[in-house]
Amino acid sequence: MKTLVINCGSSSLKYQLIDMETENSLVQGLVERIGIEGSILTQKVEGKDKYIIKEAMPNHKAAIRLVLEALVNEDHGVIKSMDEISAVGHRVVHGGEKYSHSVIINDTVLDSIRECISLAPLHNPPNIVGIEACMELMPNTPMVAVFDTAFHQTMPKEAYICPLPYELYEKYGIRKYGFHGTSHKYVSQKVAEVMGKDIKDLKIITCHLGNGCSLAAVKAGKSIDTSMGFTPLAGVMMGTRSGSIDPSVISFLSEQHGYKISDIDELLNKKSGVLGISGVSSDFRDVIDAADKGNERAKLALDIFHYKVRAQIAAYAGIMGGVDVIVFTAGIGENSSLTRKECLNGLEFLGFNIDDEKNAIRGEIQEISTKDSKVKVYEIPTNEELMIARDTVKLINK
Ligand code: AMP
Repeated sequence: MKTLVINCGSSSLKYQLIDMETENSLVQGLVERIGIEGSILTQKVEGKDKYIIKEAMPNHKAAIRLVLEALVNEDHGVIKSMDEISAVGHRVVHGGEKYSHSVIINDTVLDSIRECISLAPLHNPPNIVGIEACMELMPNTPMVAVFDTAFHQTMPKEAYICPLPYELYEKYGIRKYGFHGTSHKYVSQKVAEVMGKDIKDLKIITCHLGNGCSLAAVKAGKSIDTSMGFTPLAGVMMGTRSGSIDPSVISFLSEQHGYKISDIDELLNKKSGVLGISGVSSDFRDVIDAADKGNERAKLALDIFHYKVRAQIAAYAGIMGGVDVIVFTAGIGENSSLTRKECLNGLEFLGFNIDDEKNAIRGEIQEISTKDSKVKVYEIPTNEELMIARDTVKLINK
């Protein structure tokens, strides 16, 4: 059974074809610049040269048509016909309160995803466009929606209700939803498997540190809190996002200094975080390099980032009444030994020590705490695509 996983952004589309018998990814591809000049598709298949198609792709339907062509391409593809694709799993960012699990897509589900557009105006529209294009091009193939928000639907009210007038929750759905759910779910399940433990017996803190960063407190396999909120702007500091700040900064900038709300939104989402403090880059590799060379603002940006993550880990250990394992994942969490070490620095009282030799290993499943540590620390590469494909197959086979 081969499952196609689609992750549509506003002008990009990532895809993978996964053989679900072996769970091996057969193809990884990326389409960029959809709807703008210079559209390009890049497909990677193990043992073959990169396949690059530069062709006008005015919309997502054109992009998906080319993806399907690339998959069946005689020289560069891996399947003979589209019929070999048993199902398509779509990443959908926001499922609101309606979806705590993945679902088979039908017209009612599509309507519900549309209803969530106001909650994720940048993300849900391209997700919908991707689903519609696939449905048109593969009308007989079942499609499943896997929501970024779903895993966090188990949070208790005290974690997700914002301390605002309650009507704002009732009228407008203003609450904490949380994001990166597929990744938090994958790494929490994986770490339990690697430790040979039943996830029901574990208190896990998952740290997804990539372009966007969020942490989750996972108790007995359920998310009971997470750091992102109503939108992915909340929580710890990120590459370009501020994370949580005093909301009065917004009225101060607007009333005292004439900033437009749209400019403040852009400032908080795209010009803050590690980029805003360092003035160097949002990419941690550049900022770590600059700090190594003595750039004080780069060093300050990293210090603040480590401090925020450390504080969040401590808070989650607190609300769970302890922690059994801390997991680092995503681009920074998997690759930066410095980040892992510094985010944990001072938290050894929880019951771990870091093995520097193991912590130097990058991008592999790896325990990085010392053997005698009571609390375990792991790096686990995330695999959201596999999680989407697993959910897809589970639902299709039901
Ligand atoms: P992601 O969103 O998970 O793809 O993560 C992307 C981020 O990972 C990039 O912005 C980089 O800052 C970070 N990253 C990737 N490799 C490294 C590395 N070797 N050291 C530090 N950060 C890294």
